[in-house]
Amino acid sequence: MPDQPNRTGKKMTFRRFLSADYARDYVYADEPYEEQIARAAGYIRDADYVLLGVGAGMSAAAGAEYGGAFFREHFAEFIARYGDNGYMRDMYSAGFYPFPDEESRWGLWCRLALLAGADLDVTPLHRTLLDALDGKKRFILSTNADGQFEKAGFPPEKIFATQGSYDRIQCRRGCHPKTYHAVELFRRMDAAQRDTRIPAELVPKCPVCGGPMAMNLRSDEHFVEDEDWHAAEARFGDFLTECADKRTVLLELGVGFNTPTIIRLPFEKLLRERENLRLVRLGRSKAVIPASLADRAVAVGADMARSIGDIAERLTAGTRTIR
Ligand SMILES: [Zn+2]
Repeated sequence: MPDQPNRTGKKMTFRRFLSADYARDYVYADEPYEEQIARAAGYIRDADYVLLGVGAGMSAAAGAEYGGAFFREHFAEFIARYGDNGYMRDMYSAGFYPFPDEESRWGLWCRLALLAGADLDVTPLHRTLLDALDGKKRFILSTNADGQFEKAGFPPEKIFATQGSYDRIQCRRGCHPKTYHAVELFRRMDAAQRDTRIPAELVPKCPVCGGPMAMNLRSDEHFVEDEDWHAAEARFGDFLTECADKRTVLLELGVGFNTPTIIRLPFEKLLRERENLRLVRLGRSKAVIPASLADRAVAVGADMARSIGDIAERLTAGTRTIR
């Protein structure tokens, strides 16, 4: 159904949220770190609503590993077979290898999916952050597929993970709008694989068209947005609508310029549109904000384990003083 233009400014949807342009006036703040942290903590303390926008930098800051020694340890036989080339250097690149057959593809992907999803546990930093935001109305918009906020105990119905999940598979052609939980299948595959290939009988087939299956991770137009995805999208729209006239902080965590169209740019657009908003942008790099919004936005370019810890400390210290 096409989205109707919103003349009243009341009802918000994910689609409407998405349409945004690059700012032309990005600046690096020259404010000292401690002042940035104080301003960020102040914005959050004054807010009743916090919308978290979470990108890959959050998982990395929390300790998730994808390359280097970690990759060489867990994917040694794949490096040996395919060569130490541009693909076999980290989990992200390895997933794009042009595998010769489905047995080889799932041989790598079952392990990748488990290490990046079900078996990943970097939740202490996620918990620190959630504890610091306790008492606020919160919602999480995330481009991460690793489920770490859910694992940290945040209610799944308040998370909209737009890009899919390492735990789920779908028809590669997206012939029907369903996804399938596959963690147990991945474990069977990984246990049964020999020389980087899984047995043919474990290769998943689409239950509808009989064709090959794929990870439920957005990479092309065949990505399946299933019933749960649409329900989360609707709840996200409800949250945006509800906080429209409330004191709200957009808390952006580790969002770079790889997919700025889902969180970074829409956050800036929302900030321009709504006077009641503040933006806190945390990231190790690319912590720039549009100069025109600098009086309502703060960007902290630092290791996020440090910046989140420091903000959390100020927030909890503030709570103690008040009580
Ligand atoms: Zn199919």
